[in-house]
Amino acid sequence: MDYVDSCQLPTPWAVFTLHAFVSPDTGKEHVALTLGNVADGQPVLARVHSECLTGDALFSQRCDCGAQLETALQVIAKEGRGMLLYLRQEGRGIGLVNKIRAYQLQDQGADTVEANVQLGFPADMRRYDICKPMLAHFGVSELRLMTNNPKKVNALTQAGINVVERLPLQVNRNRYNEGYLQTKAAKLGHWFATHAPVDEQE
Ligand SMILES: [Zn+2]
Repeated sequence: MDYVDSCQLPTPWAVFTLHAFVSPDTGKEHVALTLGNVADGQPVLARVHSECLTGDALFSQRCDCGAQLETALQVIAKEGRGMLLYLRQEGRGIGLVNKIRAYQLQDQGADTVEANVQLGFPADMRRYDICKPMLAHFGVSELRLMTNNPKKVNALTQAGINVVERLPLQVNRNRYNEGYLQTKAAKLGHWFATHAPVDEQE
């Protein structure tokens, strides 16, 4: 992962610093947002967020991505220190057009996992090993990670990143994404309040 450059990024909640990276393997452009001194050796409040154009930018209520992104930035701003890695792996790695094809299958009754499989893709193609060189650039090795996804914690741990604490991020449960969130809990192992008493939000 090659670091390229950084700039200020004012948001409604804080002025973050935005850092650009390019993967020499895939040519994909990834970014990181940081706030405060993340290189002081203390565990860093963090969100590892995979791109979801429909949810992050187009206000889709089919998923919880946009609300998770916004809440994560707000929580980091409130703490005054933290980072968000924004990874360009749309649609759990299948890409935007294939995600729209999967949504069409879901409109006809398939769930999110069945739709991916019908299109010939694994349920989840996301990779988290790309986080390691990005975190290494900032001298960060320990995360307090905001996630509901145990596979993400496992993948980061296998990549040599120490997740010292997991913070649930349960926002924007609505009538359009209730089934999607239930499938994520049942088939992809996500932690949600109804399945994981440890989560106290909602
Ligand atoms: Zn989404």
